[in-house]
Amino acid sequence: MVRQLTKIFTLITLFALTVLISTSTAQAESKLNELQYIKTYETTADGKSVFRIEIGLKRDTIDYSVKIPTSVSSMILIDLDNTIPGKLSRKKNNSIELSGAETVSINEVKINYTRLQFNLTTTIGNNSYKAYTLPANRKDKKPNRIVIDIDKTNPFKDFESSQGDSYQVGEGSIVIDAGHGGSDSGAVGYNGVTEKEVTLAVAKKVQRMLTDSGAEVIMTRTTDRDVAWAGASNGQELQARVDKSPSNAALFISIHCNAFSNPSTHGMETYYYWGSAEGERLARILNEELVNFGGLANRGVKGANFYVLKHTSVPASLIELAFITNPVEENLLSDNDYQEQLALAITRAIKRYLGINPNGNFND
Ligand SMILES: [Zn+2]
Repeated sequence: MVRQLTKIFTLITLFALTVLISTSTAQAESKLNELQYIKTYETTADGKSVFRIEIGLKRDTIDYSVKIPTSVSSMILIDLDNTIPGKLSRKKNNSIELSGAETVSINEVKINYTRLQFNLTTTIGNNSYKAYTLPANRKDKKPNRIVIDIDKTNPFKDFESSQGDSYQVGEGSIVIDAGHGGSDSGAVGYNGVTEKEVTLAVAKKVQRMLTDSGAEVIMTRTTDRDVAWAGASNGQELQARVDKSPSNAALFISIHCNAFSNPSTHGMETYYYWGSAEGERLARILNEELVNFGGLANRGVKGANFYVLKHTSVPASLIELAFITNPVEENLLSDNDYQEQLALAITRAIKRYLGINPNGNFND
């Protein structure tokens, strides 16, 4: 409900994180690069104990990107443009065992575009490694190299277990805010359905779908609770939700249900903060998917000054799923299958917004 909207927010999720450390070197000539070797070993760098991945390459025209599919993962992907596997493509199953039981698979996923997928024995975070290139060194008989140093002491692996209550999260996470909760039921329908239970049910379904797709999701709440504390002011409650969203998150989505005194008022709408082009783009894609999968009247994509939209530092949108004060829509909102449809729409929109196939995974 609009009056309470300012207090609401829920949602978002995190998605995936994917940190892209990308270094690009202009391709001045068309000669292809070629893998020479891949090896792993332990060493020290910058005074830290590191696990090092070293990739030898024939030429110095190294066009590569490194990413971890979610903010916490045991998989590292290194994509090399204008590069062929060369002799390494003849390895059995395109897979090589490395020191410490790690493996790497090598695939030319497109013509002259090679992907290395490292499967590590430990979980790492997107801030726990450093990627760089080194030039050929004739004296040491070393070729051009990509080096990835992974900080062995980084505690990122703890993040998964504390997910949901963690304020420290990795880049690219998706924040999902289930509006209201605890002492604040939000709007209530004629049959007693509360906004706080609907928003939580839908938010948790979105969380499940995103997580299953390889995204990192941050929930402002996962139970029927106040995010700040019972008795907190509106501003305190909403700020507590904003505080759940790290500055390096990918986006923030707050889920709500609308309310009005006239029970015939109906439909879905999405909001963005005035002047936020990315927020507007997110709200527009959410609106499109909710029209397709929710089937309700479309009240449009609207600019607003809601607290959580204004105070989050990442692209944000607030969704009014339907009018809980309309008995027909109240029934829909409390229906598990309909909630699944809404969650699917939101999940697809998040993927589309992030440039991911809406039916695909974050690490595809
Ligand atoms: Zn609300």
